[in-house]
Amino acid sequence: MADTKKIAIMGSTGSIGTQALDIVRAYPALLQAEVLTAQNNADLLIKQALEFNPNTVVIADAAKYQYVKEALCRHDIKVYAGTDALPQVAAMGSIDIVLAAIVGFAGLSSTLAAIEAGKPIALANKETLVVAGALVTEKAKEKGVNIYPVDSEHSAIFQCLAGEFHNKIEKIILTASGGPFRGKDKKFLAGVTKESALKHPNWNMGAKITIDSATLFNKGLEIIEAGWLFGLKPEQVEVVVHPQSVIHSLVQFEDGSIKAQLGLPNMRLPIQYALFYPQRIKSSFPRFDFAAYPNLTFEKPDMEAFPAIDLACQAMKKGGTMPCVLNAANEVAVNAFLRDKTSFLNIPAIVEKCMQAASFIAKPAMNDYIESDAEARKLAESFTNKSVRA
Ligand code: NAD
Ligand code: MG
Repeated sequence: MADTKKIAIMGSTGSIGTQALDIVRAYPALLQAEVLTAQNNADLLIKQALEFNPNTVVIADAAKYQYVKEALCRHDIKVYAGTDALPQVAAMGSIDIVLAAIVGFAGLSSTLAAIEAGKPIALANKETLVVAGALVTEKAKEKGVNIYPVDSEHSAIFQCLAGEFHNKIEKIILTASGGPFRGKDKKFLAGVTKESALKHPNWNMGAKITIDSATLFNKGLEIIEAGWLFGLKPEQVEVVVHPQSVIHSLVQFEDGSIKAQLGLPNMRLPIQYALFYPQRIKSSFPRFDFAAYPNLTFEKPDMEAFPAIDLACQAMKKGGTMPCVLNAANEVAVNAFLRDKTSFLNIPAIVEKCMQAASFIAKPAMNDYIESDAEARKLAESFTNKSVRA
């Protein structure tokens, strides 16, 4: 039996974080939660700390520090607060692997710090690669750090590539569920509420990625993510809508052969694969039954009603700070939609406007990404309350 891996779960109170802790609970001899972090859900962080007895916890919202500290004062658990603590704990000497499960741009600094410290990364936080893929992959190469995808599509591709790393990829095909508004036109989308957008047909996820799945920005971000993870050009990444979410993605090789990875929609499998790679660990997850799915269907995404994929491809082709602008604008627009401050169709409209208005740097350094993110957020805020649709 392998040694116990000490894991830092960045964003332990989220959808990915809590499912990762389910895995830690299931394999106590193989995994130990060394670091747990949360933005502001102090009660859940405390509950997790009491169950898993980590070395360190971080509550990013510093106002909750005393509350967490007092709850854990009888235990041998270090408590830190503030966003500056996140990169520090991600680089701690005792950690064997870092699960990057914070949502959005906020996850970038801790992932970079972990790479700098030579820690392997299980990457859920796709925004990290969207914003700063060049910097992150270059740093990982320099430090000899592996980045294992957690996103189910990218895990599927990674699994299809096992034993094929010397063979060239012709293209990859990312599957998309199509989200809750598949088949709807712009007229319908103009009136959708956040409640209906938050009801994803196949996956139970955090609010931001659920809205991204409804706009298809999630797929757009995943195209860029795949480009960096697998060294692909935009024209080598295709999207097919597959509403059953059984085929998690496909790889086509130069001889025309296509490999796919299948299974029931369940994030625990890709999380577990990333944590234990190259080993497959026996699991008790429900098994897929072909007879229960007699119709696996495929269709083209509707680029007219859902412009997000096209915007992401434009940003990917342009490179530099453009994907960072796209991401920041989308984060602000999604947040505004979740607070009823803007409409569903305004989300891609705000992103497009920001991409047109933001300054552009072709070869950004870390500071340029921070400035570009801040500028795009300001622009997006200014567009949020206006109807920006043409
Ligand atoms: P979530 O909102 O459920 O959880 C986010 C976690 O990050 C929470 O622990 C929260 O406390 C923490 N966090 C949020 N903002 C923070 C900040 N500013 N500073 C520090 N911590 C902060 O999100 P999720 O659904 O678990 O998604 C996490 C990441 O994984 C996202 O990048 C998402 O795209 C990706 N992902 C998620 C799924 C899924 O099934 N949920 C699937 C694929 C990829
Ligand atoms: Mg995905």
